[in-house]
Amino acid sequence: MKQSRQIIAEALKENRKHLLETEAKTICTEYKIPVTRFKLAKNEVEAAKIAGEIGFPVVLKIVSPDIIHKSDVGGVMLNLKNKKEVTAAYKQIIENVKKHKKAAKVVGVLVQEMTPSSTEVIVGAIKDPQFGPTLMFGLGGIFVEILKDVTFRIAPINEDEAREMIMEVKAYPLLKGYRGVPPADTEAIVNILLNTSRLVMENQEIKELDLNPIMVYEKGAKAVDARIILE
Ligand code: ADP
Ligand code: MG
Repeated sequence: MKQSRQIIAEALKENRKHLLETEAKTICTEYKIPVTRFKLAKNEVEAAKIAGEIGFPVVLKIVSPDIIHKSDVGGVMLNLKNKKEVTAAYKQIIENVKKHKKAAKVVGVLVQEMTPSSTEVIVGAIKDPQFGPTLMFGLGGIFVEILKDVTFRIAPINEDEAREMIMEVKAYPLLKGYRGVPPADTEAIVNILLNTSRLVMENQEIKELDLNPIMVYEKGAKAVDARIILE
């Protein structure tokens, strides 16, 4: 897990606690956690070129060490269908961010594959002062934010514990399928939980990790956002 160690060491050397989405997703990829295809663009011409390579529609997101909640500052633009829309969105994002935080350092804009919306789940980890790395699971949106319908396990977890976590939340029936909505691929979530467990056990500098949201499909799952905070 060389790349992950390198990314974390570099961030700590630069005194950065919040990893960039590019860095967090590179770490996820190294631990076989599926994420939306992405590439960093440094200007709008590059963004349009990358979008063409990835395939439309795409999503653009601000990459800045000074911005943690990207959509709060107009730093996320979804469903961009052609190069013209990508070029305009790039400029708009930079403008939005600068309006919100004039001194924000901009690394670039992340161009990524737009994945279809689906059932959203959240996998997280926190480092408990007493128990060490601890994993969290819940369904996305209101289930976590309002109903606090989440479950925890101290890492490392095994396959049985990962399955228990998924079945334990009150919203579990939604993953089994309902009224014409097909069942979600819970085995894909099990794999993400196991890989996240390994990730936080092998990188003890991680204070918080958030894969929010992960889109879960009939077959497979994909994290669209990844946030890592170091101690
Ligand atoms: P924030 O920093 O605000 O949490 P996110 O990266 O989570 O930013 O983006 C905000 C929302 O936009 C997500 O919750 C998701 O609904 C949607 N989104 C982001 N990236 C993608 C993507 N690649 N494909 C589809 N939807 C996306
Ligand atoms: Mg998010």
